Amino acid sequence: MQGNKAQMARTKIVHLNIGAGSKQPRQPIHCEVLRSKRKTLALYIKQQKVVVRCPWGASNAEVDEFIENNHAWIQERLLEELQLERETLKIEKGGKIFYRARELTIVFKEGRKQRILINGDKFIIQGYKLNAAKARVQVEDYLIDKASEYIIPRARGLAKYLGVDRKIKEIKLRKTKSKWGHCTSQGILQYNWLIMLAPYSIIDYMITHEVCHMIHMDHSRQYWNLVGSICPDYVHYIDWLKAHEHRFWFD
Ligand SMILES: [Zn+2]
Repeated sequence: MQGNKAQMARTKIVHLNIGAGSKQPRQPIHCEVLRSKRKTLALYIKQQKVVVRCPWGASNAEVDEFIENNHAWIQERLLEELQLERETLKIEKGGKIFYRARELTIVFKEGRKQRILINGDKFIIQGYKLNAAKARVQVEDYLIDKASEYIIPRARGLAKYLGVDRKIKEIKLRKTKSKWGHCTSQGILQYNWLIMLAPYSIIDYMITHEVCHMIHMDHSRQYWNLVGSICPDYVHYIDWLKAHEHRFWFD
């Protein structure tokens, strides 16, 4: 019956110690087995679902053994994914916001005047008849305002210092899903205003990154030397962004 349609997908339940100590009962996790024209077995994890891709010829026993051998790996990845999901920014009452490298608690405050205040470990969103949707728009407006006040003049100032101010046609602020900054050879610089949630050193690195492209349109050694002459700790900032950027995105 190898290759029969009925065998294309099989669901197996594996038991893992997710989010619990060794004394806790093991949690059942569904593991989907997908057969196709491939040569090796591989594991994928997405949205707390485990998928095993395997060749048509692999027996159920082989697949089970493969899952068993990778048990610890599956468990680690699922936990890691849960952690990332937990850290994803949600603008809601009592939620956490990672602001300028500190974790603050979101507080909704009733008031006629719309404003955002940072007080101690609180990120206070004040507005009239606030709800999650309104609060989100307020946070967006706040970050866009901050970005136009901070990023645009600093990018222009740096461009002037480097003697490339005439090359910049426009500086745009835009929320994009995957990028912090972007530029074109036509002199259009673009920054993601979500970066205003990061510390100023990180924002300055991003400003530097795009402005330096007005001199070198690549990531060559000369380019990085130039970035380093303005922003000596840039390697550290790149690492910091990689480790924390998932905490800034919100829909
Ligand atoms: Zn670049």
